[in-house]
Amino acid sequence: MDFLNGWSLAILLFVALVGLFIFYQRLKQDLRQQIAANFGLRREIAQKNQDITELRTRRKRLLAASTQALIIVEKDYRVSSANKVAKKLFGRLNKEGSFIQWTRQHELQELVSQVLQGNKMPSTYVNAKERILVARARSIKDKTTKEIVAVALAIHDVTEITRLSRARRDFVTNISHELRTPITSIGVLTETLLNGTLADAAKAHELVTKIALQTEALSQVAQEVLDLSLIESGRAPLRLANYSLREIVQSEVDKLHLQAKHKKLQLKIDISPDMKVLVDKGMVNRVITNLLHNAIKFTSRGTITITTQPFDSQTMPHAEDHEDETWVVVTVADTGIGINPADIDRLFERFYIVDRSRSSKEAGTGLGLAIAKHIVEAHGGRIWAESDGQNGSTFYFTLPVEE
Ligand code: ADP
Repeated sequence: MDFLNGWSLAILLFVALVGLFIFYQRLKQDLRQQIAANFGLRREIAQKNQDITELRTRRKRLLAASTQALIIVEKDYRVSSANKVAKKLFGRLNKEGSFIQWTRQHELQELVSQVLQGNKMPSTYVNAKERILVARARSIKDKTTKEIVAVALAIHDVTEITRLSRARRDFVTNISHELRTPITSIGVLTETLLNGTLADAAKAHELVTKIALQTEALSQVAQEVLDLSLIESGRAPLRLANYSLREIVQSEVDKLHLQAKHKKLQLKIDISPDMKVLVDKGMVNRVITNLLHNAIKFTSRGTITITTQPFDSQTMPHAEDHEDETWVVVTVADTGIGINPADIDRLFERFYIVDRSRSSKEAGTGLGLAIAKHIVEAHGGRIWAESDGQNGSTFYFTLPVEE
């Protein structure tokens, strides 16, 4: 009996062992499968992470490459994303602060608020400080709930384009005005001549002289437009030679002498006869005429002085552009209405005319200083102006001194 029990115990043990072994094998296989699955999963996660990083980098690059300000405003008006252009426009971003605290633009805030409420908004023009912006906003929705959770905002700075198109419009208005006045005068004068005045020699002479003056004014406008386009396109090469600066200035002063006398203005030249400059004489003549012309136009009493001084890199602007050669600074100073300091840097832009109401009678085409700047820069020099806005203006330009 004991013997039987011993056997059955052994068999039982054997069966249990086999069972355990099979169980162990299954477990091992399961574990292996799980490890394999886990490994695959991990690989997939790593791949996904890499995809996300790449997407993030691409998104960052896209934001950085944009010339528009790109901003994401969350539902609670926190700014969660803003590219460089946006920060340049509105300053450093404090992620704790709200959209309005950062931009201080109520019109933009209103736009964001409308879009957050589910309204589709067209592009909006916004006047921000001195800039003109066009903003476009689109809602961002939660994928599952379909609720609006944020607003994507793209802002384009159109100040420069708007200014240019306004300048062009002004230019066309000005040029038509500049052309219309002499053309009308010539028309009237010719008609008077044809209606019988031709027979009266003295009267006819007077009228023809007036016609000649008007024709001169017309040709000056045409010349200015042509000059600018030639100089700007680089189709007017400089013919450089050494000239006496004083002689150049004197010849221009002589031409404008009558005009100055008419307004009881004094024209003073204080330039050493030894000062020689290496320039294109015809071109520099234009610079001096334009500056003198303006000085006379915008001065009602006093003196216009033309002097020279050596270039001083310690006190004068554009020192970095005047390193190698020797330069002389020509100064044209008047005692006229002056120029608002805010306008000073823009005077030399094409078509730029300061405050039309101050100078409506005198306003020209706004090309004179642009031409002067092109000519001076073609010689390697620089031109700038100073004024406190009341007591006259002073224009400076540099020219290369004789080699
Ligand atoms: P414009 O043909 O109108 O004179 P400019 O380019 O020569 O064009 O000058 C641009 C503007 O700069 C002028 O319209 C005027 O408002 C201002 N300006 C130029 N020179 C003077 C000056 N000497 N005094 C006051 N304002 C001036």
